[in-house]
Amino acid sequence: MSETATKNKETRGFQSEVKQLLHLMIHSLYSNKEIFLRELISNASDAADKLRFQALSNSDLYQGDADLAVKLSFDAEANTLTISDNGIGMTREAVIENLGTIAKSGTKEFFANLSDDQMKDSQLIGQFGVGFYSAFIVADSVTVRTRSVDVSADEGVQWQSHGEGDYTLESVHKETRGTDIVLHMKDDGKEFLSEWRLKELVSKYSDHIGIPVYILVKKKDEEGKETGETEWEKINKAEALWTRSKSDISEDEYQEFYKHVSHDFADPLAWSHNKVEGKNDYTSLLYIPSKAPWDMMNRDHKRGLKLYVQRVFIMDDAEQFMPSYLRFVKGLIDSNDLPLNVSREILQDNKVTQSLRNACTKRVLTMLERMANSDEEKYHSFWKEFGLVMKEGPAEDFSNKEKVAGLLRFASTHTDSSEQNVSLKSYIERMKEGQDKIYYLTADSYAAAKNSPHLEQFKSKGIEVVLMYDRIDEWLMNYLTEFDGKSFQSITKAGLDLGQFEDDAEKEKHKEAEEAFKSVVERTKSYLGDRVKEVRTTFKLASTPAVVVTDDHEIGTQMAKLLEAAGQAAPDVKYILELNPDHQLVQKMADEPDEEVFGRWVEMLLGQAMLAERGAMEDPAQFLKAINQLLAKN
Ligand code: ADP
Ligand code: MG
Repeated sequence: MSETATKNKETRGFQSEVKQLLHLMIHSLYSNKEIFLRELISNASDAADKLRFQALSNSDLYQGDADLAVKLSFDAEANTLTISDNGIGMTREAVIENLGTIAKSGTKEFFANLSDDQMKDSQLIGQFGVGFYSAFIVADSVTVRTRSVDVSADEGVQWQSHGEGDYTLESVHKETRGTDIVLHMKDDGKEFLSEWRLKELVSKYSDHIGIPVYILVKKKDEEGKETGETEWEKINKAEALWTRSKSDISEDEYQEFYKHVSHDFADPLAWSHNKVEGKNDYTSLLYIPSKAPWDMMNRDHKRGLKLYVQRVFIMDDAEQFMPSYLRFVKGLIDSNDLPLNVSREILQDNKVTQSLRNACTKRVLTMLERMANSDEEKYHSFWKEFGLVMKEGPAEDFSNKEKVAGLLRFASTHTDSSEQNVSLKSYIERMKEGQDKIYYLTADSYAAAKNSPHLEQFKSKGIEVVLMYDRIDEWLMNYLTEFDGKSFQSITKAGLDLGQFEDDAEKEKHKEAEEAFKSVVERTKSYLGDRVKEVRTTFKLASTPAVVVTDDHEIGTQMAKLLEAAGQAAPDVKYILELNPDHQLVQKMADEPDEEVFGRWVEMLLGQAMLAERGAMEDPAQFLKAINQLLAKN
């Protein structure tokens, strides 16, 4: 060994999450071993992209892209497979950072929450992304030799590990820029030391990447006899997939390319590939994943598209091209209008960015509309994964509000199931004669919504009500005021008026009852004082004696809960107590001459109305006392 080869040798431990990832991977991916090659070639291609990008500002780095390539070679006797690239390479610090830790935020929590069963689930590991460490699925020892484009030949770095607790690092002399990855195969990995097998895998997984992949093969003469020499044979198309014409690209190719750009493991649900010329000149290739990434709800979840300018890779995660509520979309945009030296700052307020963002947003919404119209089941599986995020849409994207609203799905009294698969369009189609509003109810859970006393008249009149029980729904409804010309009406708000569904006889009856109940309402109000905003009669109930509602423009129960959960001070909700004059208990109360006993009736009715509305009451002791006294008296 030369002197430099042992310089700066050190042993370092993997970050504990890396150990967990390695363990998880080896246990869940044994039947999917071959994907290691896709991951390593994908990294080599990324490294070439990064070099090309750096060369934009430093033309000494390389001329033209003639020489950027990935090279595969194997030695069946030595039991090794080598994947080499002449991309950007890594410095010692970069090696420690990239091949010793996992930088993604939330990783610790991700692993901490995994059960033993989940450890065997390849879907989960797929969502997390396997990457470089997948080399250890097939190799029992891996050597990485790399030299960053920024350093000299003597500042190469060698990384070695058995994929257990630690790895070694040392400085090495490396003549050429880039990275060689040498896999010492396990018995299980020997099948990959085969020209035929490697060619098969490259064409399956890596045909679409933009640089050539070569394999070192034995040269043969005209009769097919080995000459004893070797040569590099190109084995992929080496044409960036999105630059090819749609009709030449197979479904499989689109799916494999998705895995390359998204680092996802599962197939995408849908994609849309578009070349646009004219005012804007660009190509976009957008994918809807089939599974939500594990960190989608994390605040610092990386989102956005890969950005290329004139086919040169510029950056990952360009979030400027996709609104936040579509943060699950993966893919790329390749623009001919942006300057090659574009930076995140320039992208921020740039006309081209803005119009590309609008175009990409429309594409995604259209893709989803198509899916919803053509394949309900597929759309339902999309909704289950991404529905919560889509509900952020109406607040964020004013100009597409109607389109987004059309894509929303809810539970409703029509289906009798907690599944969210009712569209607003289908609700409107089922509206009653004379109905001009979309009725909805928000609650803490599906059960609470479905059993809400507010629904009683709706049920008996056969009027459908949208049932909302996701945390975000109440907030969503602040922004969603109309759909298809119909306004929304919360059925727990005071503005609810079902007069249009009543005939004259009913109206007359209600008027009389209201008149007769005037004094009861006044007695109740004077007993309660400021504890409620108002007391009145209602005819929307059947088996429930009383409910509380809030004024249309005042804060309601769910909104108050939402604010509290977010740690904000919520103003007191001002409730209106509504009494059902047809109910036996209310009638009993009305007949009670003794003011003290009357007060107990009021406590009891208000208490149960609050309990039904909030799932809690302010003073349970007083409520129980009132009930006990009433029961003891009877
Ligand atoms: P990902 O590709 O999703 O970032 P990987 O685990 O595949 O995750 O790779 C981790 C990081 O290691 C890469 O982001 C890159 O910075 C670095 N890396 C891996 N392979 C190479 C390579 N051949 N050349 C340069 N850098 C590499
Ligand atoms: Mg990778």
